[in-house]
Amino acid sequence: MSIILIPVENLEPGLLPDLREALRRIFREEVATGEMVRLPERARNDLRDQYEAETVLDAVARLGQGTGGDRRLGITDADLYVPGLNFIFGLAKQRDAVISLHRLRQSFYGLFDDRKIFCHRVLVEAVHELGHTYGLPHCRNPACVMHFSSTIAETDRKGPGFCPSCHRNIAAVPIRR
Ligand SMILES: [Zn+2]
Ligand SMILES: [Zn+2]
Repeated sequence: MSIILIPVENLEPGLLPDLREALRRIFREEVATGEMVRLPERARNDLRDQYEAETVLDAVARLGQGTGGDRRLGITDADLYVPGLNFIFGLAKQRDAVISLHRLRQSFYGLFDDRKIFCHRVLVEAVHELGHTYGLPHCRNPACVMHFSSTIAETDRKGPGFCPSCHRNIAAVPIRR
C-alpha cells in the first residue's frame, strides 16, 4: 500500500518532505512524491479566477496512474471550486484526491503568514481527503479530521486525527483491493 503525493505545478520547497513524513506516521503507509502535473488550462474559470476541482482531480488521477501508488493526492496552489460552492479545500474520488493550499495561508485572511499554522492546515486537509479515499464519509464530530469544513475556522477546530469511530472504520479497510 502506498500514497503518492503529486505536486500540481511548483510548490514551495520543503512542504512535501514534511507532509510525507507526517502522512506516513498517520496512515502507516509508504508515502512517495510523484512527478509534477500541470494545471489543466481547461479547468480554469476566468470569471471566478478559480480552477474547477474535478478537472484538476482527473488530471492527477490520469497522470498519476503510472506512478504505481495505491492512492494519489494532488497538491495545488490554485484556488479550487465545484459548481454550487464558492470554493473547496479539497476533493476526493475513489483513490484519488486533490487539496488546494490557496486558502490555508494566514496571508489569505489578511494576517501575517505563519509556517507552522500553514503546515498544520495542509496536513489536516491532506488527511481529510485521503480519508475519503479509504471510504470514510464526513463525520459529525467537529474535532474529527473527517468533519466537513467550509471555513478555515472549521479546519482549525479539527486536528489531523480520526475520532474513535472513524479510526475503527479506517482500520477495517482491506489491505489489498
Ligand atoms: Zn470531505
Ligand atoms: Zn470521525
